[in-house]
Amino acid sequence: IVNALPKPDWIKTRIRQSSVFEQTSNLVKNHKLNTVCTEAACPNIGECWSQRHATVMILGSICTRACAFCNVATGRPNPIDHEEPERVAKMVQQLSLRHVVITSVDRDDLPDGGAQHFSNVIHAIRKALPTVTIEILTPDFLRKDGALPIISKAKPDVFNHNMETVPRLYPTIRPGARYFQSMKLLYEAKLLQPDVFTKSGLMVGLGENKEEVLQVMDDLRCAQVDFLTIGQYLQPTPKHAAVKAYIHPDIFEEYARIARAKGFLQVSASPMTRSSYHADADFEILKNK
Ligand code: SF4
Ligand code: SF4
Repeated sequence: IVNALPKPDWIKTRIRQSSVFEQTSNLVKNHKLNTVCTEAACPNIGECWSQRHATVMILGSICTRACAFCNVATGRPNPIDHEEPERVAKMVQQLSLRHVVITSVDRDDLPDGGAQHFSNVIHAIRKALPTVTIEILTPDFLRKDGALPIISKAKPDVFNHNMETVPRLYPTIRPGARYFQSMKLLYEAKLLQPDVFTKSGLMVGLGENKEEVLQVMDDLRCAQVDFLTIGQYLQPTPKHAAVKAYIHPDIFEEYARIARAKGFLQVSASPMTRSSYHADADFEILKNK
């Protein structure tokens, strides 16, 4: 599929390299870690890595799912690397982070979906750097009933799971996932640990309409989700789902205004917003509310 839509000038994908960018890149390489920043070809990498903000992707770089929007490789994943939690903790320490975001590929092949490994990473970071706040961006743990209690017990500061798109588009955009499973996961995360902030994100420009976006906001508020991110979908390669529309920045502002009115404690909505974009600054705002 060739995406014929010309990119508007508000989509900034300029790579800004700096010595701090190089240091971040070297630390990631030296600790043999994966990041969603590189694996998902995130357009914000120049800015984020120049501020030492890298989002670590644990449990390997091969995913058992094949979402139509995602650049991460699909296939049979590698065995769990049990040294990874220590290396993640070391890197977080060397980056001197105040807030770290940890995500993973989906691991449908593991009985717990990788929940224990998430927990091990959280514990290793807390041991190395007790002051850092930890945000985890998890898979949906579809058919992994014991996974969420394991993660909740480890008490991250923020539990994040992205809805990604509106329910009508799930069969084409997120075929391995179920809208209500993702919503239930967020709801149950809040029930298990009411004092852990919950967060979710949407991509727009995939063919959804405004009413559908507002319906997802309502569903998320029913699940007591605290923080919403909304960003423009960008096609990583011509093989991925096409961009159906470039949403104007004014519409993002409108979505943000409506989301705040619906009761989200924190909202980040702009064309370049990603789930982990400015996550540290947003967490500061969230925890002071
Ligand atoms: Fe990485 Fe998130 Fe920044 Fe993208 S927005 S470069 S994924 S930290
Ligand atoms: Fe990408 Fe996550 Fe979908 Fe895997 S589950 S293909 S990492 S979006």
